[in-house]
Amino acid sequence: MNLENVKGIGEKSIKLLNSLGIYNMDDLIRNYPYRFDVLAKRNIEDENYHDSFVSDGIIESNAVVSFFKGKMNRLSFRCNIQEKIVKVTIFNRAFLKNSIKPGAVVTVIGKYNPKTQTITASNIMLKSLSNGIEIIPVYHLCKGITIKQMSNFINSSLSICNVSNNIPEVLKEKYGFINEEDAIKIIHNPKDETSLKTALKTLKYEELYTYMKKVKLLKKKNEEHNSLYIKNIDDKKVEHFINNLPFELTLDQKKVIEESINNLKSDTKMNRLLQGDVGSGKTIVAFILAYASFTSGYQSALMAPTEILAIQHFENAVKLFKNTDFKIGLLTGKMTLKEKKEVYKKLENNEINFLIGTHALISDNVNFNNLGLVITDEQHRFGVNQRLSLKNKSDNVDVLMMSATPIPRTYALTIYGDTDVSSIKTMPKGRMPIITSVKKTDELKDVLENIYKSLKNNNQAYVIAPMIEESEDADYTNVYDLKRKFELAFKNYTVEIMHGKMTKEEKDKVMNDYLQNKINILISTTVVEVGVDIPNATVMVIFDADRFGLSQLHQLRGRVGRNSLQSYCFLISDKDKERLKIMEETNDGYKISEADFKLRGQGDLFGLRQSGALSFKLSDIRRDYDLLVKVRDDVNELFK
Ligand code: ADP
Ligand code: MG
Repeated sequence: MNLENVKGIGEKSIKLLNSLGIYNMDDLIRNYPYRFDVLAKRNIEDENYHDSFVSDGIIESNAVVSFFKGKMNRLSFRCNIQEKIVKVTIFNRAFLKNSIKPGAVVTVIGKYNPKTQTITASNIMLKSLSNGIEIIPVYHLCKGITIKQMSNFINSSLSICNVSNNIPEVLKEKYGFINEEDAIKIIHNPKDETSLKTALKTLKYEELYTYMKKVKLLKKKNEEHNSLYIKNIDDKKVEHFINNLPFELTLDQKKVIEESINNLKSDTKMNRLLQGDVGSGKTIVAFILAYASFTSGYQSALMAPTEILAIQHFENAVKLFKNTDFKIGLLTGKMTLKEKKEVYKKLENNEINFLIGTHALISDNVNFNNLGLVITDEQHRFGVNQRLSLKNKSDNVDVLMMSATPIPRTYALTIYGDTDVSSIKTMPKGRMPIITSVKKTDELKDVLENIYKSLKNNNQAYVIAPMIEESEDADYTNVYDLKRKFELAFKNYTVEIMHGKMTKEEKDKVMNDYLQNKINILISTTVVEVGVDIPNATVMVIFDADRFGLSQLHQLRGRVGRNSLQSYCFLISDKDKERLKIMEETNDGYKISEADFKLRGQGDLFGLRQSGALSFKLSDIRRDYDLLVKVRDDVNELFK
């Protein structure tokens, strides 16, 4: 129901409420307090509470008001508090004078001085402390709305609107919950701690229950059986391709491929998340699944978060599939209109079987002939909506999402609750764990020596700086400055730079030269962070490492250690040693992401904001993980 139906709410208040995210009565009654202030009666003999004393009492005398310093005033009266006659004083409440009547009950909040038998009050309420306790709901407010108004608005709408019952009766009984409507009334007008607790418990459960039910419905939709979804895959062709790869797939890779292919063949849609640490070899899995879909007559799309990565995937795929009839296309935002149109046409005519690109793929101009599989690489970098728009390009697409950033278990339950999860846990054979050290700026010499050794072995180094060029507001290391310094230190070697302000052609050229070992040291911003694969690089140096999140450092570090040689990572920083130490201790992306998550809090690490998973009002999905599990089980039980 609309806000204008609520007593006391006019146009002005509606605008203010809107600014607080409140658009209708339901929003209003579910605008829960973010805190409760509890006023509990204190024993006047208990010294511990003399500085924050609360008690009710009976007024003994009329109030006396004196004015001073012009506008200031002081109101005093005698009061019987717990059988003691005490003088109560409060400043600037002259307006209370007529309300202070002998024999009436008041509640006094303030400081008690036993020597002078006086209370200097910070607040006086003209009523008793019901049950010896008063619980005051505190709301998020904005200028123009007082706490009292908010409370009135909420109670007025509570008296006229219907509250839906979302929790099934069986569960209410099972957990001793109360009615949603009663719970909401209590949370806005709490009388005692016990009933408030029950109300909060009920509403928290309701919140998670409603969410998990939605997830379950989504999942059910994915589980719909339809012969349309069946892909008749030519296993022989797929096997032949796998047997001719330049390497043997790891057991985990094989397992994921098998699981996914069974999914593609089945009459339900695939909705799978593939997790695997940096360097674990997810790309080849994606390629094989795209090829498998192709053998059943369907097109596939692979969306990568950056231009560089899309191009690298494209070039790799072209190489790997050169002896097959699998036709691969590239589409990125920076291509010319003419180039793009060419791609659009080929897609529609099924002259491209596998389209690799950036989010240019979701442009309205892109029409597939018969899209059957959508893959997103480093999927946490895409908003939920971007992923959906690609998926919506066809009715019967299977979906594979790939991520090197492990999703903490809570998120796996919430946003990915409708998703099957596969993991690649083992690295390809012969990889050695990267050795990581945190170094101070005055220990740079060690780092340079290490780089020098690697270059002498004909290997390459990455050097990362947070800034492109000198900036006014901070003295962080920048790419151009490092280039000058490294050129001086490594006279016989080629040093090149790369950063986000360069054109696509410039970046491509640098990356290509680096891949061909024509560049020995590549100094770059984090544009190399995601996915690029240069196996010959063995050293990663990151300046001002404290500037980066741990997961980001882990991604950057994952650019090396991609062959059988020992690789090194140096994190240069004079601060934040404790946090960076985690990088020295582990190469396990999962542990790092958990640590990062703890340190940075809910944040927007996984693009969650768009997903709505963060919009819980009462629950914190980390703190309430156990409850979430319970709710999920309850929902599953009911759907049976
Ligand atoms: P990520 O999972 O980080 O996306 P990539 O797919 O880029 O990793 O793979 C990293 C490197 O490992 C690539 O050079 C790839 O060709 C190689 N690779 C993938 N699988 C295997 C394997 N089974 N054996 C050896 N090398 C592999
Ligand atoms: Mg990758």
